[in-house]
Amino acid sequence: MDSEQREKNGTILMQKYELGRLLGQGTFAKVYHARNIQNNQSVAIKVINKQKIFRNGLIDQIKREISVMHLVRHPNIVQLYEVMASKNKIYFAMEYVKGGELFAKVAKGKLKEDLARKYFQQLIGAVDFCHSRGVYHRDLKPENLLLDENGDLKITDFGLSALYEPKKNDGLLYTTCGTPAYVAPEVLNRNGYNGVKADIWSCGVILFVLLAGFLPFQDNNLIEMYRKISIAEFNCPRWFSPQTRKLITRILDPNPRTRVCISKIMENCWFKIGYQKIELPKSPVSNPTSDVQAVFDSSSSSPEEKTKETAINVKPSVFNAFDLISLSSGFDLSGLFEEDNCRRQHARFTTTKPASTIVSKLEEIAQAERKFKVLKKDGFVRLEGNETGRKGQLGIDAEIFEVTSTFHVVEVKKTAGDTFEYIEFRDQSLKPSLKDIVWAWQGGEQ
Ligand code: ADP
Ligand code: MG
Repeated sequence: MDSEQREKNGTILMQKYELGRLLGQGTFAKVYHARNIQNNQSVAIKVINKQKIFRNGLIDQIKREISVMHLVRHPNIVQLYEVMASKNKIYFAMEYVKGGELFAKVAKGKLKEDLARKYFQQLIGAVDFCHSRGVYHRDLKPENLLLDENGDLKITDFGLSALYEPKKNDGLLYTTCGTPAYVAPEVLNRNGYNGVKADIWSCGVILFVLLAGFLPFQDNNLIEMYRKISIAEFNCPRWFSPQTRKLITRILDPNPRTRVCISKIMENCWFKIGYQKIELPKSPVSNPTSDVQAVFDSSSSSPEEKTKETAINVKPSVFNAFDLISLSSGFDLSGLFEEDNCRRQHARFTTTKPASTIVSKLEEIAQAERKFKVLKKDGFVRLEGNETGRKGQLGIDAEIFEVTSTFHVVEVKKTAGDTFEYIEFRDQSLKPSLKDIVWAWQGGEQ
């Protein structure tokens, strides 16, 4: 496959990341080592094939993965640096975790109690942090737990997690997902479940596996395995200490209501031994710096406009993977995520050019046309008609959004004047003139 070939060693992605060896392969993604050529930093790049996403209807899953990774920033969670997209693929640049999967360690045999406790403490700390932000992992298992060079735990693969939507239903999650061996009974029962309690169950299975070297619920027959899980039928091996037996029994309670909660786990004597509570970063959401902002900061606007700019609306992560896919694939999926019927007057394009180039291009077009005055503020470029048209002066806004530092979305819409004049200008003048900087158009009458 030629697209596979392009992913080979040495390929430079988005003029920034040099792809290296394959680190691992998941269900839908391949993960490569890569080097940021600007600062020599090692990163991991998760490559997701858009065709695969479409085939499997996984758009929502990817969308969740991005929003979740941006929400949670914790030393024991793999950090997402940026999201990029090409015509056929989505790329996640994330923290490179050197030590491999925890799974590989456990596959060699059970761990010493102290080491198992350390991983369990880090796991519980990170999961508790996620829960406090309304994020549930839902696919916690040793394969998704990586180790860094210091032997510390890093949780990866948020592919299956879901953001808590308080208004929906009763706060219970209704999708069955995850690997059966680690999945809570109430998840298997499909009766709706609480993400907090389901994650705690998985943490209990993980603790068992770390200490035992094998799974608590295992059977070649899936039905039999489900049965064991649903009544929490398991046996602790003889080397389990009384304290760990007790703790695991409290966690692997088939009834989510009586199952121990995280704060109680943290109060447990065995758990507390040597526990170092992590100081949580103050600002967990991704940084708001954007080169869009920089462009507008340096523009020659009046002092009043300058003060207004501080309360601006350049939203760096407004566009999620879902938007990216629809914007860049040539498929117009706008009907799925845009309800307003003024869609026809809205057109968006994606570009890999920096904000400064986008702005100067728009200025150039306005000047060439001689019929517009250009205003720049609050993350958008406004073109105001000099002549009065059929319904007054034509007004057009081009709002620039930063998706990543190398990827922008520009939304063009009419703010005043006659719709027909607007569409004519947009399609006859604007679109052809922007040809060099546009990667893909979406929306608007074709
Ligand atoms: P999937 O969602 O398709 O299961 P994962 O995110 O679990 O994909 O990644 C698959 C594998 O790639 C992991 O099991 C791991 O071996 C490797 N991997 C994933 N993320 C990283 C990372 N940040 N650093 C190093 N290796 C990684
Ligand atoms: Mg995985």
